[in-house]
Amino acid sequence: MKEYDLTIIGTGPAAYTASIYASRYKLEHIIIGEKLGGLATETDKICNFPSEEEISGIDLMKKIETQVKNLGINILNDKIIDIKKIKDGFYSITKNEKKIKSKAILLATGTKSRRLEINNENKFIGRGVSYCATCDALFYQNKNVAVIGGSDSAQVTSLYLSKIAKKVYQIYRKDKLRGDPTWIEQIKKNKKIEVIYNNNVQKLIGNNFLEEIILENPYQGNQSLKIDGLFIKIGSTPDGLLTDKLKLDQDKQGYIKVNDNQETSLHGVWAAGDVTTASNKFKQIVTACSEGAIAAENIFNFIQRNQ
Ligand code: NDP
Repeated sequence: MKEYDLTIIGTGPAAYTASIYASRYKLEHIIIGEKLGGLATETDKICNFPSEEEISGIDLMKKIETQVKNLGINILNDKIIDIKKIKDGFYSITKNEKKIKSKAILLATGTKSRRLEINNENKFIGRGVSYCATCDALFYQNKNVAVIGGSDSAQVTSLYLSKIAKKVYQIYRKDKLRGDPTWIEQIKKNKKIEVIYNNNVQKLIGNNFLEEIILENPYQGNQSLKIDGLFIKIGSTPDGLLTDKLKLDQDKQGYIKVNDNQETSLHGVWAAGDVTTASNKFKQIVTACSEGAIAAENIFNFIQRNQ
């Protein structure tokens, strides 16, 4: 079994940036992740990443990934399902039964879309319910769709869908959208988008496919909305599998606690990107990259000290 200096778990901006820095530091490392590019690939338009005035999440991540591949780094398309601390490092096993040993670990596992957790949500996934507009929007050409949420993911999703669907309802539980004012301005100007404030989605109705949703307003009661597709964009939550296996300190929502060096509570394990409490939890591609760079520099110092 080959022994690496570092195993990077994740394939988003934090993981890839850490790999670019680790390569400069000549750390022998491997990147492991199931979905190349991470959650960033689900955003159709990114306008705040330096050097890119406007780029899709997929194109940006492909560019970063190409840079990593050109450095000769091994990216393993797999998922780590078990990880253990051993005497001189860590031992991991993947879903495809690959065994990996390394002196240090960087967890950059990101987050996954938050579920609404109402009846029939699971039943209608792929049958009218979606969490990713860039993946599924084309199924709703000239149809009526709704987006739930009131922050950047919801805004970007509504704007994207407005180019494809006939009508977009954005349903938000409060009375004022929050997040990037540029997106909010575009939403307000867009004639195809109607924001329905102060409402929650209470029920999903349909036979084989979603046909109707029931909205709940605490003051005005319930109303029905006939739609073909519902995009749930209500934030994201960290995947706790490896955090729990390594017994890392985490906050109430399951984000991994890190110090200024991106070190976790377990010696030899670092974490970077959306899965951590770092950068004031300001989940941006640029902050994920920065945390990945800080982690890699610190891991380099750790490996040097232990040689
Ligand atoms: P956020 O956590 O920012 O927002 C989640 C939204 O969903 C909030 O409006 C929240 O309501 C609402 N919500 C949460 N739970 C529920 C629920 N159970 N029912 C109804 N509504 C609910 O997540 P985002 O994914 O939007 O953004 C995460 C980060 O990613 C941000 O930092 C953002 O800036 C960034 N981002 C940037 C993009 C870009 O610039 N291209 C695109 C997408 C994300 P409430 O407001 O009441 O809390």
